[in-house]
Amino acid sequence: MLAATAKLLALAALAAFPFVVGGPYYLHLLVVILIYGILTLGLDVVFGYTGEVSLGHSALFGIGAYTAGTLALQLHVGFWWALPAGVIVAAAFGAILALPALRVTGPYLAMVTLAFGTIVQILINEMTFLTNGPLGIPLKRPMLFDWRPWLPMAQKRMQDLQFYYVVVAALLLTLLVVSRLVASRYGRAFEALRDSPIACDCMGVSVYKHKVLAFTLSAGFAGLAGVLFAYSELYIAPNNFGFDLAITFLLAVTMGGRKSRAGPLIGAAIVVFLPNLLADIALFRIAAGIVAVVAVVGGAAHMLRRPEQRVRTAIPVALCVAFFGFALLLEKITDYKLTVFGMMILFVVYYLPDGIFGFLRQIAAGVRRPAPPRAHAAVLAPVDDAAAWAAAAPHVEAGGTLLDVRQVVMQFGGLKALDRVDLLVRAGTVHGLIGPNGSGKSTMMNVLTGIYTPTGGDVAFEGVSIAGHTPSEIAGRGIARTFQNVQLFGELSLIENVMVGLHHVYRGSMADAAARSGRERREELAARRRAASLLRFVGLYAMADEEARNLPYGRQRLLEIARALALDPKLLLLDEPAAGLTAPDIADLIRIIGKIRDHGITMILIEHHMDVVMSVCDTVSVLDFGQKIAEGTPAEVQRDERVVSAYLGGSIAAEAA
Ligand code: ADP
Ligand code: MG
Repeated sequence: MLAATAKLLALAALAAFPFVVGGPYYLHLLVVILIYGILTLGLDVVFGYTGEVSLGHSALFGIGAYTAGTLALQLHVGFWWALPAGVIVAAAFGAILALPALRVTGPYLAMVTLAFGTIVQILINEMTFLTNGPLGIPLKRPMLFDWRPWLPMAQKRMQDLQFYYVVVAALLLTLLVVSRLVASRYGRAFEALRDSPIACDCMGVSVYKHKVLAFTLSAGFAGLAGVLFAYSELYIAPNNFGFDLAITFLLAVTMGGRKSRAGPLIGAAIVVFLPNLLADIALFRIAAGIVAVVAVVGGAAHMLRRPEQRVRTAIPVALCVAFFGFALLLEKITDYKLTVFGMMILFVVYYLPDGIFGFLRQIAAGVRRPAPPRAHAAVLAPVDDAAAWAAAAPHVEAGGTLLDVRQVVMQFGGLKALDRVDLLVRAGTVHGLIGPNGSGKSTMMNVLTGIYTPTGGDVAFEGVSIAGHTPSEIAGRGIARTFQNVQLFGELSLIENVMVGLHHVYRGSMADAAARSGRERREELAARRRAASLLRFVGLYAMADEEARNLPYGRQRLLEIARALALDPKLLLLDEPAAGLTAPDIADLIRIIGKIRDHGITMILIEHHMDVVMSVCDTVSVLDFGQKIAEGTPAEVQRDERVVSAYLGGSIAAEAA
């Protein structure tokens, strides 16, 4: 309700702005904010959602602008053709940059995109025959539609107004597309690959592919912003698109608030306004005053609610008030521009980790009554279990060979973590894999799921070799897994975690997701229902909307199982699922494993809890120092002397006694 009203008000304000604020100066300022907003919204997809830092967005922005510029200069092609051309050219450059660059992450990616930005700027400067070099390109404001016979006004004013509304329309389109995409399975994939790339790949969602997708998309929006910028400034030159602008964009997203629509817009407004604010002492004092008032009111409200955080809250509030005092004392602001800018950044990064919008949202959440549970989990009844499992009917005839591991070697430097291991898993069985710590069990799982490529030997799944295939390919063939060190997508809710596993059931395209077509909505609903059923299956349905990182440890393992089942696997690999579980939870787990087996899913189970192994496994293989030392029924293995001496020592003998 609050959000809808705010949206309507913002829309009305945008529509009325040129008539309320008459002057061309402020209209132009707002146009630049909106253009930066288009770019920062796109940048947030990469920076906020996938968590990658790009310093190349100023160059992509420049590529959009120069596409418009060169088209006008060389071919006399106007605004309407430049608009799609700028988007396509920038997206293409984005993809060309992303394909090699996104093989690396973190600081390396920042360096690569930085180099890209520098090269683009140099090329624009040097390719005089195309870009007019350092002299830049002048452009003419497009005349879209002559309404003066009906609405008399000066031609310049009319063109300004028309251009303003075009920019507003472009921003609204950007808002629509970005918010739909990030709410779709693409947005879930972007967040999943940020929180745990390994788990993301093992859910059949290719990390690399989705990173490139996010980057290309983001580049397209940068290109759109670039074209609009060229026609807003009516003159572009290479030094408009320098490295400092890339930093400015990142700062805008950070300050405004990542992973939101309002945040990047607030950030864009700040970075555009700031130079003006810092040039005019009166304006600066007013702004500092507003900040101080907001801080005092917000701080007081927070202290009333959380008295124990009094000191922690008082410091930033005092800083804001001191800042206002500083503003009153200052005679001339121009000397302190950079200092003030630096202080603001420090303040936001330190005290508002979720940005300004994140902070406002927190205040609003405190004032408002607790929101009713979100629609999907509470309102959506899960489909009944039988229907949910219909898809998971037995795939391979029970008893046939599902997985055939032959003489697999996995070498890390001088260490053979797996040494010529054979493993034959029959369909419909639960195959135990036990052995002391460091014996190579998890390494075997990593080989089976493609995280490691075996140094020697072969792995055949359903008679086809999968050694050397990527994790997402292998997941697509029907091997799902859980992890010894839990790998959840922490910032996604429980139901969204499971839905990442359901990525493979969607048939619609990215365009479907962006337009939220009928097909997209049907598929999304079906996926939510199935995810709800899987959550109910592992007993987590009541918490469907919680963020996964808030889940107690034992429950996290159950969520991993639900997510793995979403893949509709033929083979499920469980790596120490009972580790850290309490006795009742373990009993639950045994029951769940039994039910999964009843549905015809074959399992490999790594486990230290012997009671679990003994009660659910049909066959057990024992590893020691990377070699298989025994195999048989649980009872046979239990009696094997080598096993007893190598691993079980007293524990199982004692249990057996
Ligand atoms: P566990 O049976 O306890 O699951 P692991 O499979 O995790 O054992 O480890 C087997 C051996 O392989 C250990 O000695 C471990 O240190 C080593 N190892 C596993 N992964 C790597 C790696 N990526 N690089 C180097 N050594 C590794
Ligand atoms: Mg292990």
